[in-house]
Amino acid sequence: MILVTGGAGYIGTHTCTELLNSGYDVLVLDNYSNSSPLALDRVERITQKTLIRIEGDARDPDLLDQLFANYPIKAVIHFAGFKAVGESCQIPLAYYHNNFYSTLVLSQCMQKAGITKLVFSSSATVYGDPEVVPLTEAMPTNPANPYGRTKLMVEQMLQDLAASDALATDNPQPWGIALLRYFNPVGAHQSGLIGEDPSGIPNNLMPFITQVAVGKRDQLDVFGDDYDTPDGTGVRDYIHVVDLARGHVMALERLLDDQITGAEAINLGTGLGVSVLDMVNSFTNNNSVAVPYQIADRRAGDVASYYADPSKAFDMLGWSAEHTLSDMVTDSWRWQKNNPEGYAD
Ligand code: NAD
Ligand code: UDP
Repeated sequence: MILVTGGAGYIGTHTCTELLNSGYDVLVLDNYSNSSPLALDRVERITQKTLIRIEGDARDPDLLDQLFANYPIKAVIHFAGFKAVGESCQIPLAYYHNNFYSTLVLSQCMQKAGITKLVFSSSATVYGDPEVVPLTEAMPTNPANPYGRTKLMVEQMLQDLAASDALATDNPQPWGIALLRYFNPVGAHQSGLIGEDPSGIPNNLMPFITQVAVGKRDQLDVFGDDYDTPDGTGVRDYIHVVDLARGHVMALERLLDDQITGAEAINLGTGLGVSVLDMVNSFTNNNSVAVPYQIADRRAGDVASYYADPSKAFDMLGWSAEHTLSDMVTDSWRWQKNNPEGYAD
């Protein structure tokens, strides 16, 4: 059985779906601070399988001790956390508490229970403003905001934890930790039943585009067209959330069979740079729906261009992205069209 913290969220639901389809038993721990239990009903509908769900907080050591004592948990995937860069500048302590402290408590409880296989949701934001692209895992990390720093601090803590194995005399189970650095997750499950359901005004490009397309917002602001990129707009590495979910299952399998030990940072991206206007045009052409936009000022803190070198994921996990940009825009639109109000529908 796999414990999935934050399993009711955007990436969590897609990963639970892949886990159940691959034959794993799944226990979700979520406090629903940014999600709905209805999302887990949809996962069960897609897979025709049930999962165990516990409403609770990933920072609660007593609850974690109970779960590890009462269920045959072999590994943990830790998604629970906050993820909005802007908000992390306004309420940094809440971010350090939910992102860093939750992982500290979770790792302590895992150690106590003798469970040493962990997949952690890191982020490409740990790289900060890169000097060169594509980004390899060996390149310097220098996050530009509190959110990115919570992720880097967790990575460092988990690297220290894994390194402590070499000094332990009584530790039969070595740590195996995958620090998955996601680039820009977009898209939705092909069924149209699960997808991204942001609360309030979306910060990210894809949910903003889909909300303009469905008529919830008038137009998209394209943040800057004077970057040093082919069309002047920002370039990112967008990855389909189902590919991302598959990456988690593949990492988990390598951890469980001890092919990965220690703590390994691994990029999950396509290796392709896509501009804001490429994305708008692809969305419009594939879905035959208009996305009115205007060029606006640059957004503070944005960088011109970043995308992954995903070769380590291929070498270590045998993983590479399979979905195209056209799949991403088609699946995002299907989800939005079928669920204009997200899970509230
Ligand atoms: P999400 O907000 O949709 O999912 C997070 C889930 O965790 C939610 O269901 C929320 O209710 C739950 N949660 C939050 N704090 C909790 C706590 N203390 N205890 C229990 N449950 C808690 O976010 P997501 O997009 O699915 O992201 C998942 C993880 O991936 C996050 O750690 C995020 O930082 C990381 N990540 C996301 C992106 C992205 O663009 N979506 C990119 C890089 C990294
Ligand atoms: N972007 C935009 N308009 C929006 C949201 C985003 O032009 O309403 C641009 C943003 O400037 C960046 C790209 O889209 O170049 C991706 O932004 P997003 O917030 O989705 O991800 P980030 O890479 O910033 O985490």
